[in-house]
Amino acid sequence: MSAKKKLLVVTDLDGSLLDDSYSWEAARPALHCLKTLGIPLVLNSSKTISEMKDLAHRMGTFAPMVAENGGLLAVPQESGLLDQPKTFQRMGSDWIQITGLSRDFILSRAHALREAQGYLFEGFADWSDAMVAEHTGLSSGAASCAQSRYATEPILWEDTLARRKAFEGSLAKDGIRLLQGGRFLHLMGPADKASGTVAVKALYQRAMPDVEWLVVALGDSQNDQAMLEVANIAVVIPHADGPHISPQAPRVLNASMPATAGWNEAVLTIIKDEIGASALK
Ligand SMILES: [Mg+2]
Repeated sequence: MSAKKKLLVVTDLDGSLLDDSYSWEAARPALHCLKTLGIPLVLNSSKTISEMKDLAHRMGTFAPMVAENGGLLAVPQESGLLDQPKTFQRMGSDWIQITGLSRDFILSRAHALREAQGYLFEGFADWSDAMVAEHTGLSSGAASCAQSRYATEPILWEDTLARRKAFEGSLAKDGIRLLQGGRFLHLMGPADKASGTVAVKALYQRAMPDVEWLVVALGDSQNDQAMLEVANIAVVIPHADGPHISPQAPRVLNASMPATAGWNEAVLTIIKDEIGASALK
């Protein structure tokens, strides 16, 4: 790889860098390598920024984060990427930008439709932290982090499928889309994990215009497909159940093991191929 080329690693969390017990222990060798080589590690997840911030700190990454499925971009001051962040607002030690629609706007439209049409659904905005904990199985501290959202709203739909389609059609007029997660239906704007990836790459490109950034993206599920397709190197992390995704990218690498262990193996392989085996020493 020429001196002007640098790797930029963008990763999904659950089922990719994190295993079933939310541990990344098995990825320590690769994370250590990224840090030693100064390769940025960008977390890109459906989680909220409060949830991701804690993980990023413990992993020791100060790169930008893409939260809430692309709806929010957070740039830590420590990254040094933003000097005059006109379109960002300050939140703690981060600059944040809502890249999709704001949660306030989404809630105002969804709740007005519920009022007018009598749709049966409940969401995080209707619940206390204790109720969020009850509905999600999270601890109360974690539920409070999951509540601090800016660009998406998870709801439980309790009405018919036909009425859900009508609700979806009405929201679409305002640019709001519905994404089925595990149990929850997520109301969100047009931004996604792919647009978040492109935005982060642009920040690096602007800060270091001479560098040719080679994006490595890692993901395991359908909502990672578009993110993998804007990367130069796409890594598919397999899982035991559910369909395997097949992204189109200049280079596609299928990890041979699920979650964290597969993530570790794939990142070390890419470093070896792109930088050289000496980088692993
Ligand atoms: Mg995942």
